[in-house]
Amino acid sequence: MFFLPDRLDRRFHLLRLIILFLMILLSLPLAALGAGKPVVVASTTQIADFAREIAGDRLVVRSILAPGADPHTYQPTPNDVQVVLSASLCLENGLHLEGKNWMGALARDAGKELVTVSRGVAPLQLGKEGQVVPDPHAWFSVQNAAIYVNNIVEAMGRLDPAHAAEYQARGSLYLQQLRVLDAWIRDEVGRIPPSRRILVTTHDAFNYFCRDYRFNPNNRYQSIAPVGWSTGAEVGGGMTPKRHQQVVDSIRRSGARAIFVETTINPKQIREIAQETGVAIGGELYSDSMGKAGSAGESYIGMMRENILLIVQALK
Ligand SMILES: [Zn+2]
Repeated sequence: MFFLPDRLDRRFHLLRLIILFLMILLSLPLAALGAGKPVVVASTTQIADFAREIAGDRLVVRSILAPGADPHTYQPTPNDVQVVLSASLCLENGLHLEGKNWMGALARDAGKELVTVSRGVAPLQLGKEGQVVPDPHAWFSVQNAAIYVNNIVEAMGRLDPAHAAEYQARGSLYLQQLRVLDAWIRDEVGRIPPSRRILVTTHDAFNYFCRDYRFNPNNRYQSIAPVGWSTGAEVGGGMTPKRHQQVVDSIRRSGARAIFVETTINPKQIREIAQETGVAIGGELYSDSMGKAGSAGESYIGMMRENILLIVQALK
Protein backbone atom coordinates (compact mmCIF):
# COMPACT_ATOMS: atom_id res chain seq x y z
CA MET A 1 0.00 0.00 0.00
CA PHE A 2 1.19 3.49 -0.87
CA PHE A 3 1.31 6.17 1.80
CA LEU A 4 1.88 9.85 1.13
CA PRO A 5 4.60 11.38 3.22
CA ASP A 6 3.05 13.10 6.22
CA ARG A 7 3.72 16.68 5.03
CA LEU A 8 2.26 16.06 1.57
CA ASP A 9 -0.81 14.43 3.10
CA ARG A 10 -1.45 17.51 5.23
CA ARG A 11 -1.15 19.71 2.14
CA PHE A 12 -3.75 17.65 0.27
CA HIS A 13 -6.01 17.85 3.25
CA LEU A 14 -5.62 21.62 3.32
CA LEU A 15 -6.32 21.85 -0.41
CA ARG A 16 -9.52 19.81 -0.01
CA LEU A 17 -10.66 22.13 2.78
CA ILE A 18 -9.98 25.22 0.64
CA ILE A 19 -11.93 23.77 -2.31
CA LEU A 20 -14.84 22.84 -0.03
CA PHE A 21 -14.85 26.34 1.47
CA LEU A 22 -14.85 27.98 -1.99
CA MET A 23 -17.72 25.76 -3.13
CA ILE A 24 -19.82 26.79 -0.11
CA LEU A 25 -18.91 30.45 -0.63
CA LEU A 26 -19.87 30.39 -4.32
CA SER A 27 -23.14 28.59 -3.77
CA LEU A 28 -24.39 31.01 -1.08
CA PRO A 29 -25.08 34.20 -3.05
CA LEU A 30 -26.53 32.21 -5.96
CA ALA A 31 -28.98 30.45 -3.65
CA ALA A 32 -29.85 33.74 -1.95
CA LEU A 33 -30.64 35.38 -5.29
CA GLY A 34 -32.75 32.48 -6.53
CA ALA A 35 -30.14 31.10 -8.90
CA GLY A 36 -31.25 30.78 -12.48
CA LYS A 37 -34.59 32.55 -12.07
CA PRO A 38 -35.24 35.54 -14.32
CA VAL A 39 -34.93 38.86 -12.49
CA VAL A 40 -37.58 41.60 -12.72
CA VAL A 41 -36.45 45.07 -11.61
CA ALA A 42 -39.08 47.64 -10.59
CA SER A 43 -38.41 51.34 -10.11
CA THR A 44 -40.67 51.88 -7.07
CA THR A 45 -41.63 49.88 -3.99
CA GLN A 46 -45.32 49.74 -4.99
CA ILE A 47 -44.57 48.30 -8.42
CA ALA A 48 -42.20 45.75 -6.82
CA ASP A 49 -45.02 44.72 -4.46
CA PHE A 50 -47.47 44.17 -7.35
CA ALA A 51 -44.76 42.26 -9.23
CA ARG A 52 -44.07 39.95 -6.25
CA GLU A 53 -47.78 39.21 -5.84
CA ILE A 54 -47.90 38.07 -9.46
CA ALA A 55 -44.48 36.39 -9.78
CA GLY A 56 -44.77 34.01 -6.82
CA ASP A 57 -41.50 32.06 -6.67
CA ARG A 58 -41.07 31.91 -10.45
CA LEU A 59 -39.19 35.19 -10.76
CA VAL A 60 -36.93 37.27 -8.54
CA VAL A 61 -38.29 40.79 -8.06
CA ARG A 62 -36.02 43.65 -7.03
CA SER A 63 -36.81 47.31 -6.40
CA ILE A 64 -34.47 50.19 -7.20
CA LEU A 65 -36.04 52.56 -4.66
CA ALA A 66 -35.80 51.65 -0.98
CA PRO A 67 -38.75 52.39 1.33
CA GLY A 68 -38.86 56.12 2.03
CA ALA A 69 -36.89 57.17 -1.06
CA ASP A 70 -38.25 59.97 -3.28
CA PRO A 71 -38.76 58.91 -6.92
CA HIS A 72 -38.92 62.52 -8.20
CA THR A 73 -35.40 63.44 -7.11
CA TYR A 74 -33.71 60.00 -7.06
CA GLN A 75 -30.19 59.69 -8.46
CA PRO A 76 -29.29 56.13 -9.55
CA THR A 77 -26.15 54.58 -8.05
CA PRO A 78 -23.51 52.26 -9.60
CA ASN A 79 -25.20 49.42 -7.72
CA ASP A 80 -28.49 50.19 -9.51
CA VAL A 81 -26.65 49.77 -12.82
CA GLN A 82 -25.56 46.28 -11.69
CA VAL A 83 -29.10 45.41 -10.56
CA VAL A 84 -30.57 46.45 -13.92
CA LEU A 85 -27.85 44.50 -15.77
CA SER A 86 -29.14 41.37 -13.99
CA ALA A 87 -32.73 42.03 -15.16
CA SER A 88 -34.74 40.17 -17.79
CA LEU A 89 -37.50 42.77 -17.49
CA CYS A 90 -37.67 46.32 -16.09
CA LEU A 91 -40.86 47.99 -14.82
CA GLU A 92 -41.39 51.72 -14.37
CA ASN A 93 -44.34 53.87 -13.28
CA GLY A 94 -43.95 56.40 -16.09
CA LEU A 95 -45.96 59.66 -16.30
CA HIS A 96 -42.65 61.35 -15.30
CA LEU A 97 -42.71 59.95 -11.75
CA GLU A 98 -39.09 58.84 -12.18
CA GLY A 99 -37.53 62.31 -12.30
CA LYS A 100 -35.40 62.96 -15.41
CA ASN A 101 -36.53 59.52 -16.62
CA TRP A 102 -33.92 57.70 -14.51
CA MET A 103 -35.48 54.24 -14.85
CA GLY A 104 -35.78 54.62 -18.62
CA ALA A 105 -32.12 55.64 -18.79
CA LEU A 106 -30.99 52.69 -16.63
CA ALA A 107 -32.92 50.19 -18.79
CA ARG A 108 -31.80 51.77 -22.06
CA ASP A 109 -28.12 51.84 -21.07
CA ALA A 110 -28.31 48.16 -20.05
CA GLY A 111 -30.23 47.23 -23.24
CA LYS A 112 -33.18 45.83 -21.21
CA GLU A 113 -36.90 45.69 -21.99
CA LEU A 114 -38.82 48.37 -20.09
CA VAL A 115 -42.57 48.20 -19.47
CA THR A 116 -44.46 51.31 -18.30
CA VAL A 117 -47.03 49.86 -15.91
CA SER A 118 -49.29 52.95 -15.91
CA ARG A 119 -49.99 52.37 -19.63
CA GLY A 120 -53.75 52.64 -20.12
CA VAL A 121 -54.35 54.97 -17.16
CA ALA A 122 -56.26 58.16 -18.03
CA PRO A 123 -53.92 60.65 -16.34
CA LEU A 124 -55.07 63.66 -14.36
CA GLN A 125 -53.24 66.89 -15.13
CA LEU A 126 -51.03 68.83 -12.74
CA GLY A 127 -49.99 72.47 -12.98
CA LYS A 128 -46.26 72.58 -12.31
CA GLU A 129 -44.07 75.65 -12.71
CA GLY A 130 -46.45 77.16 -15.24
CA GLN A 131 -46.75 73.94 -17.27
CA VAL A 132 -49.47 71.31 -17.40
CA VAL A 133 -48.04 67.82 -16.88
CA PRO A 134 -49.62 64.39 -16.27
CA ASP A 135 -49.98 63.57 -12.59
CA PRO A 136 -47.76 60.52 -11.97
CA HIS A 137 -49.32 59.38 -8.66
CA ALA A 138 -51.85 57.15 -10.40
CA TRP A 139 -51.54 54.19 -7.95
CA PHE A 140 -53.58 56.18 -5.40
CA SER A 141 -56.63 55.16 -7.39
CA VAL A 142 -57.13 51.49 -6.57
CA GLN A 143 -58.74 51.11 -9.99
CA ASN A 144 -55.53 52.38 -11.57
CA ALA A 145 -53.56 49.93 -9.42
CA ALA A 146 -55.59 47.21 -11.15
CA ILE A 147 -54.37 48.57 -14.52
CA TYR A 148 -50.77 48.34 -13.24
CA VAL A 149 -51.40 44.72 -12.20
CA ASN A 150 -52.84 43.77 -15.59
CA ASN A 151 -49.84 45.29 -17.37
CA ILE A 152 -47.45 43.36 -15.12
CA VAL A 153 -49.35 40.06 -15.65
CA GLU A 154 -49.07 40.57 -19.40
CA ALA A 155 -45.35 41.47 -19.27
CA MET A 156 -44.50 38.43 -17.08
CA GLY A 157 -46.50 36.16 -19.38
CA ARG A 158 -44.41 37.38 -22.31
CA LEU A 159 -41.18 36.97 -20.34
CA ASP A 160 -42.02 33.42 -19.21
CA PRO A 161 -44.80 32.03 -21.46
CA ALA A 162 -44.56 28.55 -19.90
CA HIS A 163 -46.04 29.97 -16.68
CA ALA A 164 -48.32 32.64 -18.15
CA ALA A 165 -51.44 30.93 -16.75
CA GLU A 166 -49.93 31.09 -13.26
CA TYR A 167 -49.23 34.82 -13.52
CA GLN A 168 -52.78 35.29 -14.76
CA ALA A 169 -54.19 33.31 -11.81
CA ARG A 170 -52.14 35.16 -9.18
CA GLY A 171 -53.07 38.45 -10.83
CA SER A 172 -56.75 37.51 -10.75
CA LEU A 173 -56.63 36.73 -7.01
CA TYR A 174 -54.81 40.00 -6.33
CA LEU A 175 -57.35 41.97 -8.37
CA GLN A 176 -60.07 40.53 -6.13
CA GLN A 177 -58.14 41.78 -3.10
CA LEU A 178 -57.94 45.22 -4.71
CA ARG A 179 -61.71 45.24 -5.22
CA VAL A 180 -62.18 44.41 -1.53
CA LEU A 181 -59.73 47.19 -0.62
CA ASP A 182 -61.59 49.71 -2.78
CA ALA A 183 -64.97 48.82 -1.23
CA TRP A 184 -63.48 48.94 2.28
CA ILE A 185 -61.98 52.41 1.64
CA ARG A 186 -65.39 53.69 0.47
CA ASP A 187 -67.03 52.32 3.63
CA GLU A 188 -64.40 53.84 5.92
CA VAL A 189 -64.41 57.24 4.19
CA GLY A 190 -68.21 57.18 4.52
CA ARG A 191 -67.67 57.67 8.27
CA ILE A 192 -66.28 61.19 7.64
CA PRO A 193 -69.05 63.80 7.22
CA PRO A 194 -68.80 65.25 3.66
CA SER A 195 -68.06 68.76 4.97
CA ARG A 196 -64.97 67.43 6.77
CA ARG A 197 -63.51 65.57 3.82
CA ILE A 198 -60.69 68.06 3.41
CA LEU A 199 -57.33 66.45 2.79
CA VAL A 200 -54.27 68.72 3.01
CA THR A 201 -50.93 67.05 2.38
CA THR A 202 -47.37 68.27 1.94
CA HIS A 203 -47.10 67.46 -1.74
CA ASP A 204 -49.76 67.03 -4.33
CA ALA A 205 -49.66 63.22 -4.52
CA PHE A 206 -53.31 62.64 -3.67
CA ASN A 207 -55.28 63.87 -6.70
CA TYR A 208 -56.37 60.40 -7.82
CA PHE A 209 -57.20 59.53 -4.24
CA CYS A 210 -59.30 62.68 -3.73
CA ARG A 211 -61.13 62.10 -7.01
CA ASP A 212 -61.99 58.46 -6.29
CA TYR A 213 -62.93 58.91 -2.64
CA ARG A 214 -64.52 62.36 -2.93
CA PHE A 215 -62.21 64.51 -0.84
CA ASN A 216 -61.92 68.29 -1.29
CA PRO A 217 -65.24 69.04 -3.06
CA ASN A 218 -64.43 72.78 -2.94
CA ASN A 219 -61.20 72.15 -4.81
CA ARG A 220 -62.76 70.11 -7.64
CA TYR A 221 -61.85 66.89 -5.82
CA GLN A 222 -58.14 67.62 -6.22
CA SER A 223 -55.58 67.24 -3.49
CA ILE A 224 -54.68 70.35 -1.53
CA ALA A 225 -50.97 70.95 -1.03
CA PRO A 226 -50.58 74.41 0.43
CA VAL A 227 -49.45 77.10 -1.99
CA GLY A 228 -45.73 77.70 -1.61
CA TRP A 229 -44.89 74.09 -0.91
CA SER A 230 -43.35 72.33 -3.88
CA THR A 231 -43.06 68.61 -4.54
CA GLY A 232 -40.41 66.17 -3.48
CA ALA A 233 -37.39 66.86 -1.36
CA GLU A 234 -37.62 70.57 -2.10
CA VAL A 235 -40.34 70.94 0.49
CA GLY A 236 -39.06 73.36 3.05
CA GLY A 237 -35.98 74.12 0.98
CA GLY A 238 -35.84 77.74 -0.16
CA MET A 239 -38.73 78.73 2.13
CA THR A 240 -38.97 82.53 2.24
CA PRO A 241 -41.11 84.59 4.63
CA LYS A 242 -43.49 85.28 1.71
CA ARG A 243 -43.87 81.59 0.85
CA HIS A 244 -44.26 80.77 4.52
CA GLN A 245 -47.16 83.23 4.73
CA GLN A 246 -48.75 81.74 1.59
CA VAL A 247 -48.62 78.28 3.14
CA VAL A 248 -50.17 79.50 6.39
CA ASP A 249 -52.91 81.41 4.52
CA SER A 250 -53.82 78.53 2.25
CA ILE A 251 -54.09 76.10 5.17
CA ARG A 252 -56.39 78.53 6.99
CA ARG A 253 -58.46 79.02 3.83
CA SER A 254 -58.84 75.28 3.28
CA GLY A 255 -60.82 74.85 6.51
CA ALA A 256 -58.95 71.60 7.16
CA ARG A 257 -59.14 69.98 10.60
CA ALA A 258 -55.74 68.40 10.14
CA ILE A 259 -52.81 68.39 7.75
CA PHE A 260 -50.86 65.29 6.88
CA VAL A 261 -47.16 64.71 6.63
CA GLU A 262 -45.78 62.27 4.07
CA THR A 263 -43.23 59.61 4.83
CA THR A 264 -40.97 60.60 1.93
CA ILE A 265 -40.79 64.21 3.10
CA ASN A 266 -38.95 65.93 5.95
CA PRO A 267 -41.67 66.92 8.45
CA LYS A 268 -39.88 69.61 10.50
CA GLN A 269 -41.26 72.67 8.75
CA ILE A 270 -44.75 71.20 8.60
CA ARG A 271 -44.76 70.93 12.40
CA GLU A 272 -43.92 74.64 12.72
CA ILE A 273 -46.62 75.62 10.27
CA ALA A 274 -49.21 73.41 11.96
CA GLN A 275 -48.47 75.17 15.24
CA GLU A 276 -48.82 78.58 13.64
CA THR A 277 -52.12 77.75 11.91
CA GLY A 278 -53.54 75.92 14.93
CA VAL A 279 -54.34 72.90 12.74
CA ALA A 280 -53.56 69.40 13.99
CA ILE A 281 -51.07 67.10 12.31
CA GLY A 282 -53.12 64.09 11.26
CA GLY A 283 -50.07 61.83 11.03
CA GLU A 284 -47.69 60.51 8.42
CA LEU A 285 -49.19 59.23 5.19
CA TYR A 286 -47.48 56.86 2.81
CA SER A 287 -47.26 58.57 -0.54
CA ASP A 288 -44.54 57.85 -3.09
CA SER A 289 -43.14 54.89 -1.20
CA MET A 290 -44.42 52.01 0.90
CA GLY A 291 -43.17 51.39 4.44
CA LYS A 292 -40.11 49.44 5.55
CA ALA A 293 -40.25 45.64 5.61
CA GLY A 294 -42.03 44.54 8.77
CA SER A 295 -44.06 47.76 9.11
CA ALA A 296 -47.84 47.89 8.65
CA GLY A 297 -47.30 49.79 5.38
CA GLU A 298 -44.88 47.30 3.83
CA SER A 299 -47.31 46.37 1.04
CA TYR A 300 -49.56 48.40 -1.24
CA ILE A 301 -52.71 47.14 0.48
CA GLY A 302 -51.07 47.81 3.86
CA MET A 303 -50.05 51.35 3.00
CA MET A 304 -53.52 52.21 1.67
CA ARG A 305 -55.16 50.67 4.76
CA GLU A 306 -52.90 52.55 7.19
CA ASN A 307 -53.45 55.84 5.32
CA ILE A 308 -57.21 55.44 5.50
CA LEU A 309 -57.15 54.60 9.20
CA LEU A 310 -55.15 57.80 9.91
CA ILE A 311 -57.31 59.99 7.69
CA VAL A 312 -60.58 58.73 9.14
CA GLN A 313 -59.25 59.07 12.68
CA ALA A 314 -58.17 62.68 12.12
CA LEU A 315 -61.14 63.96 10.13
CA LYS A 316 -64.24 62.03 11.27
ZN1 LIG B 1 -44.75 62.37 -5.62
